Amino acid sequence: MADYQNPSAELRARVALEKYKFRNTHSLGQNFLLSDQLIGALLDAAELQSGENVLEIGPGAGVMTRLLSERCGRVLAVELDQGLEPVLNDVLEGAPNVSLVFRDIMKADLRSLTGAAFGGEGYRVVANLPYYITADVLLRLTDSQCPPDSICVMVQREAAERIMSAPGSKQWCAMAAQLQYYGRARTLMEVPPEAFDPPPHVVSQFIRIDRYADPPVIPADEALFRRLIHAAFAMRRKTLANNLKASFGMSQEAARAALTAAGLDERVRGEALTLKELARLADVLADAAEG
Ligand code: SAM
Repeated sequence: MADYQNPSAELRARVALEKYKFRNTHSLGQNFLLSDQLIGALLDAAELQSGENVLEIGPGAGVMTRLLSERCGRVLAVELDQGLEPVLNDVLEGAPNVSLVFRDIMKADLRSLTGAAFGGEGYRVVANLPYYITADVLLRLTDSQCPPDSICVMVQREAAERIMSAPGSKQWCAMAAQLQYYGRARTLMEVPPEAFDPPPHVVSQFIRIDRYADPPVIPADEALFRRLIHAAFAMRRKTLANNLKASFGMSQEAARAALTAAGLDERVRGEALTLKELARLADVLADAAEG
């Protein structure tokens, strides 16, 4: 039975969505999770500790945000849709550890946002991500000057499979390489479309990526390594030598020489390379740039 003196986060959200006649915007990926029970299970699986700081991307109607506020230290929730402000104000009433910011996460300055909210302490990311920016958000977070300690996010099952794919497989891509350089990924839970309001046309997975204390490779020039990852997958049907020419402005001879120096076949395709091979090639390119 509903306790109207002490309403659940779900009840608060349903009442507020109705009160403000909120209409979901499909193009913003507004497939909400409203069930306290399901979100509780997701947060249990994420093993959040009291006192931890959490960045939530896209709080939507705020059920997850409210439950996070009950379990964590400080919560910074960044939402693009200002139309959700009255809903979130109602749902988050009496949750003093939540800071709500209305901004596009793709344009936000992560360092200053998280610095202001968490005072330089570490933080985790927990989110039911809008699927249209999954890859961009994950790359932005892991490429940032102040990366999170871990990332627990809802993504499409296909995206989860790509993130956890093996080098050389069909799904192996720049996102997978960059995320596997950042941390170890695993699926915590599979979530069916009916769990969302409105239901998306895809099955989702709640995944966790834990940042490595010791990365699997240590390239001499990290920025160059990241640039190489993106160059390697830029044109999948071209050889890596051709991608190096296009992305690094190298001659055919220099590109081939770099591949040979890294112990790679001159005709190799970028998508066949492991992280170790990418790091070795990045080191050869860094040496060549210095010399
Ligand atoms: N966390 C809520 C939940 O679980 O019900 C909402 C999740 S919904 C899948 C994605 C949320 O991200 C929406 O509220 C949407 O408005 C917001 N969003 C979409 N694009 C965004 C962006 N670029 N920056 C911040 N939030 C964004």
